[in-house]
Amino acid sequence: TKKIGILGIQGDVEEHIDSILKLGYEAIRVRTISELEGIDALIIPGGESTTMGKIMDKYGFIDKIRELNLKKNIPILGTCAGMVLLSKETGIDQPLLKLMDVSIDRNAYGGQVESFEKEIELDGNVVHAVFIRAPLVKELMSDEISVISKNENRIVGIIQNNCMAISFHPELSENGIIVYKYFFDKFLK
Ligand code: GLN
Repeated sequence: TKKIGILGIQGDVEEHIDSILKLGYEAIRVRTISELEGIDALIIPGGESTTMGKIMDKYGFIDKIRELNLKKNIPILGTCAGMVLLSKETGIDQPLLKLMDVSIDRNAYGGQVESFEKEIELDGNVVHAVFIRAPLVKELMSDEISVISKNENRIVGIIQNNCMAISFHPELSENGIIVYKYFFDKFLK
């Protein structure tokens, strides 16, 4: 059974674990860098990217996760704040993994009141997407990025190498399992 790590420093972790178990994988809540050893894929959940980034930086997660991804080919799915953390820049000074060549507009839709739900398309699948203070991809900084999902003309899902990022919360919607399945089918061989 493949082992899927969910970064459990901050943010919503339990719902991701449920989705992973439903698909028949083993779920590991990662709270220390040693718990990253032996995982086959990593999920970085939503939450607050500045807080998560600072903790990740302080305890060595940034370097370790970059190494796992770049040298050991461990795929990463980042959702919401996880998308922010995978990006290269956000316009403010915050620790980032910089594994995806995009710049991000954080809280692009405004404050918490701007949160909304909507059916969107993700590479041919229709997903009920829950957006909560969602980030947007502002600029693609490399032609290695593929756009897999848009909300109208705004980019909300991308892939680069073995990283995938989406602005919404798949763990909070009934058919969000489609997103995990898509990620695992593509990257967990
Ligand atoms: N906008 C938040 C951030 O940048 C992310 C919000 C979320 O994960 N729901 O951290």
